[in-house]
Amino acid sequence: MSELGPRLRPTLDAIPTYKPGKPAGADSFKLSSNENPYPPLPGVLEAAVAAAGSFNRYPDMAVSGLTAELAQRLGVPAEHIATGPGSVGVAQSLVLSTAGEGDEVIFAWRSFEAYPIITQVAGATPVPVPLTADEAHDLDAMLAAITDRTRLIFVCNPNNPTGAAIHREELVRFLDAVPGHVLVVLDEAYREFIRDEQVPDGIELYRDRPNVCVLRTFSKAYGLAGLRVGFAVAHEDVATALRKTAVPFGVSQLAQDAAVASLRAEDALFERVEALVGERTRVSAALAAQGWTVVDSQANFVWLRLGERTLDFAAACGEAGVVVRPFPGEGVRVSIGEVEGNDLFLATAEAFRKEF
Ligand code: PMP
Repeated sequence: MSELGPRLRPTLDAIPTYKPGKPAGADSFKLSSNENPYPPLPGVLEAAVAAAGSFNRYPDMAVSGLTAELAQRLGVPAEHIATGPGSVGVAQSLVLSTAGEGDEVIFAWRSFEAYPIITQVAGATPVPVPLTADEAHDLDAMLAAITDRTRLIFVCNPNNPTGAAIHREELVRFLDAVPGHVLVVLDEAYREFIRDEQVPDGIELYRDRPNVCVLRTFSKAYGLAGLRVGFAVAHEDVATALRKTAVPFGVSQLAQDAAVASLRAEDALFERVEALVGERTRVSAALAAQGWTVVDSQANFVWLRLGERTLDFAAACGEAGVVVRPFPGEGVRVSIGEVEGNDLFLATAEAFRKEF
């Protein structure tokens, strides 16, 4: 740190910069960021282009059109919805609303990489709780990690990067055991890809629990990752706090209008989700047939625990033209993409398996 430069918060030294999935070259498939591989639907693109005509103006700060549409669809009061620039933006506001210096935020690990970062940015202390041997949330250990400094718990369902999902009974038991002053955030970024009927809808669980909220995004099933729009469904005091801690005008008018158009185009979008779920089933079955241990993924990606072989595997995929997401020493997360990209990944995985 320079003596002459501005004095930055010393805590930032310990915080890594968020690392996005690697960009892919023109002739390779990007299976590293859990994006939707389909291009925007024409009607959604039209809504965004129409909004672009007035981007000399600030957006509707109350995000009223999108909020009203969501409230009606989800059957919740509009006051319970708080939007932000991606669900990661809303997650950051949730942490800023509940935790500061000396407070603790619990989450499973490994899980979404932003959790420890946004916790430390708020000045709070991350409390990662290892996953079980079969890649699931260890909810008992998470309960045991609660102290009188705990302010928030992230539960990522299904979990990124493993794809494992928590069943209703287990989650309800957990929620009933968490003290009422601790906010539980059910991060459902991949909700639309769930096919296991035992996985609950977080909205059901939030309704009569004032300390539970649900986080959702338009980045995955709705294909708006580049426009940055996500939201929380939370009880009024939490939702009000989110509006205070959010960056003003955080959701552009393009994003708001495209999100509304996407909700109205759900039939077409959900057909695409169905195709991706079909591909997930096919890819998972093929990997299992090759001899890999595959978690039952309820999201739009699969997880291979490769330990020390992680970087070699990712390099082999890269050479074959598939960009995947390695977590060094742990494993590789591979998004479900176009059939051709998935096939290339499967061929690489098969060759790698035989070599090692
Ligand atoms: N939660 C989880 C579990 C995620 O995996 C992601 C994206 N990788 C997000 C939240 C954030 O997504 P976005 O900010 O695009 O809504």
